[in-house]
Amino acid sequence: MIRKVIDYIHTYDAGIFPEDLEKAQIINLGSNENPFPLPRNVVEAICRSAENVNRYPNPKYEKLKERIAEYCGVNRKNISIGNGASDVLENACKISLEPLDKVVMKVPTYSMYIFLGMLRDADVFFVKSYEDLVEESKNSKLTFICSPNNPTGETFPKKVFEEIMESTNGIVVVDEAYYEFCKETFLDYINDYKNLIIVRSFSKFFGLAGLRIGYAVASKKVIEALEKVRLPFNVNSLGVEAAMEALKSIEYFERVRDYIVRERERLIKEINKISGFKAFESKANFILVKAWKNVSEELAKKGIIVRDVSDVVGLEGNYLRITVGKREENDALIKELRCMGNLNEGRK
Ligand code: PMP
Repeated sequence: MIRKVIDYIHTYDAGIFPEDLEKAQIINLGSNENPFPLPRNVVEAICRSAENVNRYPNPKYEKLKERIAEYCGVNRKNISIGNGASDVLENACKISLEPLDKVVMKVPTYSMYIFLGMLRDADVFFVKSYEDLVEESKNSKLTFICSPNNPTGETFPKKVFEEIMESTNGIVVVDEAYYEFCKETFLDYINDYKNLIIVRSFSKFFGLAGLRIGYAVASKKVIEALEKVRLPFNVNSLGVEAAMEALKSIEYFERVRDYIVRERERLIKEINKISGFKAFESKANFILVKAWKNVSEELAKKGIIVRDVSDVVGLEGNYLRITVGKREENDALIKELRCMGNLNEGRK
């Protein structure tokens, strides 16, 4: 029989997908993806490896780990890989959580952590301030930190991080899925703190969301545990080749990143001129916006997908998370938001 506890697990909500809308033209600003196509060499590497997909990948993934280690400036023994950062986050839960163990996070944050905690039958604990996070992480088995934080876009203060690390023996995960958009990292602390796991993704900056590659950087001991619990062959061979090739094209991805950062600042400025909308500062490739009413369905009718995050734990009211897109996509969004802003003005 299926375990009773499964009834209580909330399915992770991945938002609206283009196929859900009957529209010829869709602007997808819902999932924090890279809006630009991959460089040619990466596509070619994927095509080349497609010829060998009848074979299993080598389950140790040494070459990929080596390249990621070079990129991070660490030893290959400090790297574990996963089927997206999501898989790595799940592995971090597997090595740290028994049923009813305490997991702590400051909300609002990435809702996947709640889902993964529930999968381990853990006691998921929410706090609203940094002070409470320091206090509650003292006796927790796992503390989640997201920097830059999804959905708020803010980075985590180093001082608070150090306080947490000095006072807990539990595992601390710092999710840096959006690291390349801000270049602030906690990676340099892995030699000081053996219970620290940095989690990163190839889905955002490197544009490989569909191929599912993520990795952890941590002390050798923690990496050994992560490598033990991950499923053999958890990363597919197309993803392995694409990630290794993408690491050769950093300049291209940095140009895209600089464009996205410029567009992010423009988008924030423009949205803040519109009545009824407030855009918060962000260090990532998305923006949190407070709206005078729930507008995500209306935007979807116009073919624009954004993420409605109103029901994320820790947010009260109508909130949207908007991925920064290409200039023309952002312009189309601004145009629709202006119409809604005029309606808000009309109410006054
Ligand atoms: N962490 C955060 C903070 C995210 O926003 C996401 C993706 N939405 C992930 C992890 C998961 O990324 P991946 O596609 O690598 O599983």
